Amino acid sequence: MTNPTLEAIEIRKVYQTLSEEIVVLESVSFSMNAGENLAIIGPSGSGKSTLLQILGTLDAPTSGIVRIGGQDPYELNENQQAKFRNERIGFIFQDHHLLPQWNVLENTLLPALAKGKPTEEIRQRAIALLERVGLKDRMTHLPSQLSGGERERVAVARALVLKPMIVLADEPTGNLDQQSAENVARLLLEVPKEENTVLIVVTHSISLAEQMQKRYELRNRKLTRVG
Ligand code: ADP
Ligand code: MG
Repeated sequence: MTNPTLEAIEIRKVYQTLSEEIVVLESVSFSMNAGENLAIIGPSGSGKSTLLQILGTLDAPTSGIVRIGGQDPYELNENQQAKFRNERIGFIFQDHHLLPQWNVLENTLLPALAKGKPTEEIRQRAIALLERVGLKDRMTHLPSQLSGGERERVAVARALVLKPMIVLADEPTGNLDQQSAENVARLLLEVPKEENTVLIVVTHSISLAEQMQKRYELRNRKLTRVG
């Protein structure tokens, strides 16, 4: 038996505001092996984005443990943690966070730039991924010249460019029309699977959730398996 790629153990998250404590997550535990995918559904404000941030090493849990490839990222110092995040985790957001002044290829290479000039191998991988998501002819275009679905597909390629262990997507199809959403969803499910990458998608789309291996619902601070 190999270790799970991702483990969340008894995650609890409390936000402290000036006037009160807000308990957002309680006793959240699950684990995932390489190549598995999972959907998280739940009402607005239930803590879905908070959980993704915790799993993505962006925000420490109040208590509980996250392990990615056996490593607790919150035990690393700030520099190590930033490097770990950049190399091991791919993020896809609803509003894609592409840089407007950079073209499609440059945006896809963004995670690689943290390490200096991208190697030829990484450039070739970026080009292959863009081809894979149907954007080969758009590599020199700016984000403003793309449709919403195309931008989201750039975000998919960018999230995968450094071969992360885990891809985290927060409502990736939330702003798209049905046809574009289906397109993005298909690529989002196919490519990580081919590469044995763990994929977690927060989504309101029942059809996307139903295409995934497992479904969990976040409600009243708890994460429960619903399918
Ligand atoms: P979801 O993504 O499911 O809509 P969020 O994770 O964004 O939910 O938020 C969960 C709850 O935590 C909400 O009540 C939100 O207001 C609160 N919250 C999120 N971030 C913070 C923060 N930095 N400080 C205080 N409260 C927060
Ligand atoms: Mg959210």
